[in-house]
Amino acid sequence: SIGFFNGEFIDIYKAVIPIEERGHQFGDGIYEVIKIIDSKPILLDEHLIRLENSASSILLELPYTIIEIKGIIMEGIHQSGLKNAEVYVQITRGVSPRNHLFPDVSASFTMTVKPSKEIPAQYYLQGISTITLRDERWANCHVKSLNLLPNVMAKQIAANSGSFEAIQVRDGKVTEGSSTNVFAVNNGIIYTTPLTSNILPGITRQAILQAAKYTQMKYLEENFTPEFLKEADEAFLTSTSVDILPIRSVDGKLIGNGNPGRITLELHQAFQRLYVTREVN
Ligand code: PMP
Repeated sequence: SIGFFNGEFIDIYKAVIPIEERGHQFGDGIYEVIKIIDSKPILLDEHLIRLENSASSILLELPYTIIEIKGIIMEGIHQSGLKNAEVYVQITRGVSPRNHLFPDVSASFTMTVKPSKEIPAQYYLQGISTITLRDERWANCHVKSLNLLPNVMAKQIAANSGSFEAIQVRDGKVTEGSSTNVFAVNNGIIYTTPLTSNILPGITRQAILQAAKYTQMKYLEENFTPEFLKEADEAFLTSTSVDILPIRSVDGKLIGNGNPGRITLELHQAFQRLYVTREVN
């Protein structure tokens, strides 16, 4: 593992963040998580475009160009000595005496490169359980903001009830998980929540829709209710960390017979071939 703060590679556990850093005083910043497999970042350009979009949404000027950020990421992977890893990039509005107003300093850039979190194989073989929960987040969920308190609370409530993920519901419709996008499959059609300011435009979500197109499966970006999800033939979650995770149950109700569905498995294979092993172009 390796860390990086404002221009220097450092020991990941070295204390380097000043007390008056706006990331931890205000959550005034944005981030990205990128997966590295066999030393290669997956969907790196897509992550960096989202990073630019998040930055401009909060009127934050990036401290480096995208080309420079790419270089820092590639050097970080090299210095970490890891082949399979997760890169975390965080950019905040910098270090300045605490004051809500934007400071006149340049942004802070923090990065960690660490081994990927192990996801138990059983999660993929048997699916994971989920609960539904009221979406209590703000009106700009398309921004990958550091303000994750509602997401943290939702994930913990799910864990306390023995579930892997909290599926959030706003105005009677499923938005997304606390750190994942949500898909349902009904009568051979794949459904996922449309891109609005209510959800994060997941990079894996988009890749899965591409995989669906590639394998000539039908999909619709349409809102659906928790009841529709519970009655679905199949359901799954997507994120950079988990790829595709089959949902076994929602609020205790089994999805289909509970086991991962055929379309879920086919999409996972297509995703692997298109974006990970790149056996097809
Ligand atoms: N929604 C939320 C709220 C998330 O935090 C994440 C993970 N960053 C996702 C969806 C999945 O996005 P991605 O596929 O880009 O990792």
